[in-house]
Amino acid sequence: MKFLMVGAGLSGAVIGRRMAEAGHDVTVIDSRDHVAGNCHTERDPETGVMVHVYGPHIFHTDDEAVWNYVNAFTTFMPYKNRVKSTTQGQVFSLPVNLHTINQFFGKTMRPDEARAFIEEQADTSITDPQTFEEQALRFVGPDLYEAFFKGYTEKQWGCSPTELPASILKRLPVRFNYDDNYFFHRFQGMPEHGYTPMVEAILDHPGITVSLSTPFDPGMKAEQDHIVWSGPLDGYFDYDIGRLGYRTLDFERFTASGDWQGCAVMNYGDRDVPFTRITEHKHFSPWESHEGSVLYREFSRACGPDDIPYYPIRMVDEKALLADYVARAEGEDGVTFVGRLGTYRYLDMDVTIREAMDTAQAFLTALERQSALPVFAKPPL
Ligand SMILES: Cc1cc2nc3c(=O)[nH]c(=O)nc-3n(C[C@H](O)[C@H](O)[C@H](O)COP(=O)(O)OP(=O)(O)OC[C@H]3O[C@@H](n4cnc5c(N)ncnc54)[C@H](O)[C@@H]3O)c2cc1C
Repeated sequence: MKFLMVGAGLSGAVIGRRMAEAGHDVTVIDSRDHVAGNCHTERDPETGVMVHVYGPHIFHTDDEAVWNYVNAFTTFMPYKNRVKSTTQGQVFSLPVNLHTINQFFGKTMRPDEARAFIEEQADTSITDPQTFEEQALRFVGPDLYEAFFKGYTEKQWGCSPTELPASILKRLPVRFNYDDNYFFHRFQGMPEHGYTPMVEAILDHPGITVSLSTPFDPGMKAEQDHIVWSGPLDGYFDYDIGRLGYRTLDFERFTASGDWQGCAVMNYGDRDVPFTRITEHKHFSPWESHEGSVLYREFSRACGPDDIPYYPIRMVDEKALLADYVARAEGEDGVTFVGRLGTYRYLDMDVTIREAMDTAQAFLTALERQSALPVFAKPPL
């Protein structure tokens, strides 16, 4: 069959590779001038620093098959994500852990003491939390909430935590030990030469043709047997019943010499600081050494029609519109919607790869049974 992958990110690359390996003819297009989608990295010509162009990406997973998959295409270097936060005139360790709690309250508590202390802070009058704010107050009380959750969340989502659902904060967001590794996953790392060469290697197969700077044109359908769409779901329909809401990011790039902030990610929790965080990209490749440094100040705002969609806003209104688009998509023939934009979900890289592997498998099974290929391998709702 002739497959057209719209999007050369992880979704398009992984599905395209599998279909090419199975003997199909695969074309991958992307409107951007590079592969790897939002994971794209490039070396800054001036400083030599590997820059995560669309924001920092740290690979972490418990899925051994996914870990083996990415390691077959590149070498991963050890990397642990350790984040700091500048808040109320001090620098703290994140995620909120025993060090943060002791520093914040000026104490020297052991784990059990800290647990009991935080339980005292928690607002137990909230029995059935409905909003993010109520959930946070019930878990950690007003002081930690104000310092580490409220301002950051307002900046990130552009609304009050009283308007966000409690489900965002599913678990107690503090640790009663000194573990400051952001992720719990068994496998964590960073590709030695960045993500883009890894995706190039996935796409490097004789059955795959890649065309960059090539936006999808509906006329392309006629030349293909099946389209795999990893662009925005509403974009496929030309946004004709409205746009699904996203948050976008503005990166204010600046350079420095030496070590500007001493860590890769510094969050800013105070509401009066307009940006959410500063990332210093050289620290994402700690095995390299560069005199110069490249940093991004990160601002979050509502996504306009010409902006890059980053985080889907899955509030009540968006879900209603999403349901309409899903119903229409299900009436389409010859197209499968995949990935973070095609299914309007926030997906980490490992989940994206897992879903792409499963989608390719679903295609192969359907072809074997001579049945139709699925419109969604993972339902967006
Ligand atoms: C700020 C940010 C930070 C993140 N950090 C992490 C992290 O630390 N760890 C982690 O595991 N995950 C992280 N992620 C998630 C990660 O970016 C995604 O899992 C991954 O990019 C999803 O790949 P994809 O192929 O589905 O989508 P994308 O990477 O978005 O690829 C889709 C591609 O389709 C192309 N396209 C769209 N429309 C068209 C069209 N009409 N014609 C042609 N091409 C088109 C786009 O140009 C794009 O290149 C982060 C995401 C964001 C937004």
